Amino acid sequence: MTVIKLTNSKTRKKEVFEPIDPNNVRMYVCGPTVYDRAHIGNARPVIVFDVLYRLLRHVYGPEHVTYVRNFTDVDDKINKKAKDTGRSIKEITDETMQWYLDDMRAVGALDPDKMPRATEFIGAMITMIEGLVESGHAYVAEGHVLFSVESYKDYGKLSGRSIDDMIAGARVEIAPYKRNPMDFVLWKPSSDDLPGWDSPWGRGRPGWHIECSAMSYELLGETFDIHGGGNDLMFPHHENEIAQSCCAHPQGGFARYWLHNEMLQVEGKKMSKSLGNFFTVRDLLDGHDGMPSVPGEVIRFVFLSTHYRKPMDWTQKKAFEADQILSKWFIFLHQNALATNDVRSLYEKEGLWNADQVVLECVANDLNTSGALTRLHEIFKEASGEPSVGNKARFSASLDLLGLLPSHDEIEVFLKLNESMDLSSFADHLSTLRQSAMETKDFSEVDALKTALLNAGVEVRMSKTGVELEPGPNFDASKLEGLL
Ligand code: AMP
Ligand code: ZN
Repeated sequence: MTVIKLTNSKTRKKEVFEPIDPNNVRMYVCGPTVYDRAHIGNARPVIVFDVLYRLLRHVYGPEHVTYVRNFTDVDDKINKKAKDTGRSIKEITDETMQWYLDDMRAVGALDPDKMPRATEFIGAMITMIEGLVESGHAYVAEGHVLFSVESYKDYGKLSGRSIDDMIAGARVEIAPYKRNPMDFVLWKPSSDDLPGWDSPWGRGRPGWHIECSAMSYELLGETFDIHGGGNDLMFPHHENEIAQSCCAHPQGGFARYWLHNEMLQVEGKKMSKSLGNFFTVRDLLDGHDGMPSVPGEVIRFVFLSTHYRKPMDWTQKKAFEADQILSKWFIFLHQNALATNDVRSLYEKEGLWNADQVVLECVANDLNTSGALTRLHEIFKEASGEPSVGNKARFSASLDLLGLLPSHDEIEVFLKLNESMDLSSFADHLSTLRQSAMETKDFSEVDALKTALLNAGVEVRMSKTGVELEPGPNFDASKLEGLL
């Protein structure tokens, strides 16, 4: 059986993954708060844990893996949006959840097996909080229920901080009713205009952290295998989840392997609305601010080319390069009728649907997806150089393991979209212009096109043998529009 190794944030070591029950491998990943479109950074944990999900399904069998990702549908940001827009909370959360699923499917993410909404588990949260109050880990103060961090000796262990460090470093909400400034809210009172549920502490709503503890317990049990999320969640969210769950269920160990993805930046800078480099997954898919649309497969490829534990930089240049590679691969799939819906069952019947061993080993080695992509280049060379049933099946099955194998229809859409991103048509046009300029001795059109390409950040190399165009570091595809 394939050996899976994962870097466990809990031990800060790369460890061999051994599931509690290979017949039911269980993974929980913190999902989105649903009040707006997912931004491009939000897609990172989705893609990272989708690769892990595919790997686990591959190794243990699809029916032996349970992946849970929640929707946070009770939150003050949602309340604010409802107030600002005059729309109902239900309408906003339903719409945003659907957007989220559409956008994440577009980047090749499989739906998790279970996608609970926090508001469906309020009863379970109340039960858990009651237990924490009874066992002395939580206390009631002014209509709030707070978790007492001093009651849990391992508080801070995951993120490696002491309670004193946290107090010194954090912007802690000052509340006179807290025994320790780091104590966090499990339940808070709701005024009549806010969503609320009846509870032993009056009408109120849960704090954020308790939902993941309650839902993972209900759906996966008191001990499960993997817990994931972005590393911005490690403190306080994951630290608080651990404290709540381990105190509520002291016999269980909660999650055994903790995985955290690093953050995404855009063109070398932290993404922010004020810098004007903030965009959503949907913006990329549909095209925005004069930029051509970026196919979901390209987004996925760019993400996979950086290891999940390293900061990742989203750049147009990378998107362009990914697009060039995927075009070659997808044209080959298309010409050989190798898209998902054409081949999988056929090859499976013949026992040929096997991912390449090196690709599999890369992914199993702490999700070394960039190594897997490097290997895919080699497999592509073999499959396209000397196509045989075996190496074609291997190429498709390997792409599938990474979530990069499109359906027949998706390939058609991809190739169509791609026409707008293709620099080769500019190279052809520049060649033709140069040819006629040699005869007329009028190079003005050649110079004009060359200048426009340079302005768009394209590196132009013209030699006797031909014209070569390549996107440079400042490549801006939107400046190419209307040039042909
Ligand atoms: P949120 O809705 O803000 O709680 O975020 C949902 C998920 O997206 C969490 O797992 C975050 O860690 C992750 N996330 C948010 N911003 C980024 C970013 N810039 N890069 C990578 N992951 C992010
Ligand atoms: Zn969570």
